Amino acid sequence: MEDFIKKLREGDIRTAARLMRHIDDRTPGYRDKLKKLYPYTGNAYIIGITGVPGAGKSTLTDKLISEFLDRGEKVGVIAIDPSSPFSGGAILGDRIRMQSHCENPDVFIRSLATRGHLGGLSSSTTEIIDVMDAMGKTVVIVETVGVGQDEIEIVDTAHTTIVVVIPGMGDDIQAIKAGILEIADLFILNKADREGAAKTKRELQAMLDLSRNLYKDRKIPDIAETVALFNKGVKEAVDKIYEHKNYLIETGKFEEHNKKKRELMFLKLLHDDLQENILKTFYNKERDNLISQIRDKKLNPYEVVEEIMNEIDLEHFCKVHNG
Ligand code: GDP
Repeated sequence: MEDFIKKLREGDIRTAARLMRHIDDRTPGYRDKLKKLYPYTGNAYIIGITGVPGAGKSTLTDKLISEFLDRGEKVGVIAIDPSSPFSGGAILGDRIRMQSHCENPDVFIRSLATRGHLGGLSSSTTEIIDVMDAMGKTVVIVETVGVGQDEIEIVDTAHTTIVVVIPGMGDDIQAIKAGILEIADLFILNKADREGAAKTKRELQAMLDLSRNLYKDRKIPDIAETVALFNKGVKEAVDKIYEHKNYLIETGKFEEHNKKKRELMFLKLLHDDLQENILKTFYNKERDNLISQIRDKKLNPYEVVEEIMNEIDLEHFCKVHNG
């Protein structure tokens, strides 16, 4: 174990990749490794990038990686692919677009399928962020497609959430504005070489101006313009990311965010374990019978849940868990 920790902390890619596979497969023992890694986490700056498919997120991420490397950062990237629940996580497109960094030991790129996970980034995502963090990555970029739950959940995890928009989205922006205005810390208007970029920027700015009450306790999101394909505007976009980071640090929100994250992570871990270990063993044998009776309305679901809860000896559970 000591050797494993040492290797991982030195940034050994094979050790990290193996652990990530174990996390993905939930191989027994992976938790012990995460437990040992935990003290070394909490140093990376987490950036979420979301936006509709085709907005240029992968192209942009590739350029952001270069810019962060130039500034002395060590970069981890997690590309989340909700569209391929059975692929086991290989997104060819992302791999190809970010290939320029494949050989660089300061960059670690990992694709992850969410496997139809509901309600939050999968536990694997946060665990894999932790692995990258413990490896010494100073910036971890989590790229999600902005079509589902992931983009909302990313906010809990990322220090800076970037929403990538493109020209001509005016109407779409209107339609989804409540959502994106709430999650974005920074807008990147990509494909600024396309017609209508100035108009889209004006519309977005107008919407931000109208929504000032949303930002009473937050920094009003900036809008950066990029042409990711030709690496234009990327430096300025990264400057704006650092501006947001500085804002968080200076106002104490950075530490507050980290505290909140630790709390959420603990509750999720506890919740997952309760569900998996207790409930599973408890009602496995009864399950089919119970469900069938509930389906036929022979049993009252309120009563059944009450009975199950009464039968679970929570006090005993707590004692066992406290050693
Ligand atoms: P993603 O689905 O959001 O990850 O988008 P991709 O990075 O795969 O990009 C989608 C397409 O847009 C690709 O063909 C890119 O080459 C192209 N693209 C990316 N950035 C720009 C840009 O700034 N300008 C233009 N014109 N095309 C771009």
